[in-house]
Amino acid sequence: MADRFDPSLLYAECRRCGSPVILATGPREALLWMGIAPDTLGADCLLLYEGCPRCQPHSPQHEPRLIRFRSGAAPHPGH
Ligand SMILES: [Zn+2]
Repeated sequence: MADRFDPSLLYAECRRCGSPVILATGPREALLWMGIAPDTLGADCLLLYEGCPRCQPHSPQHEPRLIRFRSGAAPHPGH
């Protein structure tokens, strides 16, 4: 069987300052909140934040987006 990707290994990064974002609750909760099934993830996925506590300490909530890299294929716009 194919290896199952561990959602806790999902890399999260801030788009504004480029810092890695450390999630206190782990990415699993953010994925649930976004309605993304953890088993659809792979090593080509990245959580991208529009701000993080480092560059926006006064913003209470930073919304992540899921980015998917695919080698050799253009990304599909929208859903
Ligand atoms: Zn940041």
